[in-house]
Amino acid sequence: MKMCCPVCGRLLNTERWFEECGCVETYSKCLKCGYCHHWSYGTTWVGFGGFDFEYSYTITEEEYFKMVKQANKARWKYRKWLLRKGIVKGKKHALNVL
Ligand SMILES: [Zn+2]
Repeated sequence: MKMCCPVCGRLLNTERWFEECGCVETYSKCLKCGYCHHWSYGTTWVGFGGFDFEYSYTITEEEYFKMVKQANKARWKYRKWLLRKGIVKGKKHALNVL
């Protein structure tokens, strides 16, 4: 499955690790803007532009959507910075950031 960077839209480089029980870890990185998405044994870590967000499978729905809101805010902030630097163009990406 190919995934695009939710910040700049570039295709992410993804690595996956498997054990007998299935996929236990994935690590995706955007080589253009530095967005990282790391999932390991039920814990997700997302980092970009100096922001980072972490949650595990124990998170409640309410907490999760609160974090999504914060992460989306951070994404637009980082995008603005990337736009100013000319690293990304104006096209918007509405992909889930977490
Ligand atoms: Zn990116």
